[in-house]
Amino acid sequence: MTFSPPESVDVVVIGGGVVGCSAAFHLAEAGQRVLLVEKSAIASGSSSKAAGGVRACFSDPVNVAIGKRSLALLADIGQRPGGEIDLHRVGYLFLCTTSSQLDDFAAAVEVHNSLGVRSSMIDVEQAHQLSPLANVDDVLGACWSPDDGTCTPEAVVQAYAAGARRCGAVLMTNTEFVGADVRDGQIYSVEIRSGDESAHVRTSAVVIAAGAWSTSVGEAFGIDLPVEPVRREIIVTGPIPGVDPAVVARSPMTIDAASTFYFHAEGRGVLAGFSDSSVEPGFDLTRDPSYLEKLVELAAFRAPHLVEAEVTGGWAGYYEVSPDHDGIVGQSADVSRLLYATGFSGHGFLQGPAIGEILRDLILDCEPSIDISPLSATRFQTGVRRDERHLV
Ligand SMILES: Cc1cc2nc3c(=O)[nH]c(=O)nc-3n(C[C@H](O)[C@H](O)[C@H](O)COP(=O)(O)OP(=O)(O)OC[C@H]3O[C@@H](n4cnc5c(N)ncnc54)[C@H](O)[C@@H]3O)c2cc1C
Repeated sequence: MTFSPPESVDVVVIGGGVVGCSAAFHLAEAGQRVLLVEKSAIASGSSSKAAGGVRACFSDPVNVAIGKRSLALLADIGQRPGGEIDLHRVGYLFLCTTSSQLDDFAAAVEVHNSLGVRSSMIDVEQAHQLSPLANVDDVLGACWSPDDGTCTPEAVVQAYAAGARRCGAVLMTNTEFVGADVRDGQIYSVEIRSGDESAHVRTSAVVIAAGAWSTSVGEAFGIDLPVEPVRREIIVTGPIPGVDPAVVARSPMTIDAASTFYFHAEGRGVLAGFSDSSVEPGFDLTRDPSYLEKLVELAAFRAPHLVEAEVTGGWAGYYEVSPDHDGIVGQSADVSRLLYATGFSGHGFLQGPAIGEILRDLILDCEPSIDISPLSATRFQTGVRRDERHLV
């Protein structure tokens, strides 16, 4: 493979995950000359490790709006940019076991409904009918969001990557961003490297979409993007003995709001996980042997049939965690036309489609359809934290 990047482009996108590829597609479709650099392979970072959950049911209105827009884009992906992503709108079901959770989700339902997202609080019997694999003995009620669901993360990223290429974007894999020429608040060029070869590409605009690696990329531009990598694991099972496969297939994304234990149908079995709060931040994807034990303990209570199934696979990836567990999206006040989108803390896969569209609008100096100013990195200097409560 020859290393022959373009000499000059309108925008350089750093990172080939869902956020970078969605941005590259939306920008190239709008006529921008785009170079995307990915230090490894497309979708090799967190995006292909996601559980595939896509939802609009958050507590924070900004996240609800972003999720709603992403769901619309995902539903339309077969037409634009094209591709099959196995979108199953099986719904999200948050099981509540305390009265404060019930109140909290009921307040969120009001936010959802006010923004045009169908959701409702349902009783225990309804929750059990929707998710028969769940043990609801201690459940007081649930939040049900029927238009949410799951899809295949890798397929979404590849759909955007292919669409970007079709619109003329250049996507260079095994190519790392290593530095930038920034003077007096203007970007003049970026330096990229592949193996022993390097090049300077002229540009005046950059999108940082480097996921868990965004802090060091931000430093190259003199901006602070406080993101920490935190290992998260998933397991996948084979068929569940004694359970009708049709029941498994129509299971919603079922989440124990207290423990974050979740499962949804995957292949002939389920995909399951939980966010282990004892994991320390750091770049280490060594799988923890005790994770499966902890997961089995949670499953044995919340979804006992799952414990009978054979574990057929699993993996670990990074959540790119921000100080308040919400996305960091915006443009630098100090460096002109430097945009960033990172820190999604477990909901970046589902936000990527809409975030790419928003980044396009910011580059084109158009008002985005969603006001993302609350997600600016400046919130950490001013001490205004976001308040997303319904994290997984
Ligand atoms: C186990 C697990 C389950 C999850 N489940 C869900 C879920 O159900 N729903 C959901 O919405 N989210 C989920 N997430 C979170 C989601 O995967 C991430 O938030 C999302 O993928 C982030 O996308 P991204 O494009 O920002 O980052 P990434 O996909 O990590 O892409 C960033 C890319 O930047 C590249 N890069 C870094 N530095 C450089 C550089 N210097 N030069 C060039 N390239 C560089 C990396 O190689 C990487 O490919 C989950 C995450 C994990 C780990």
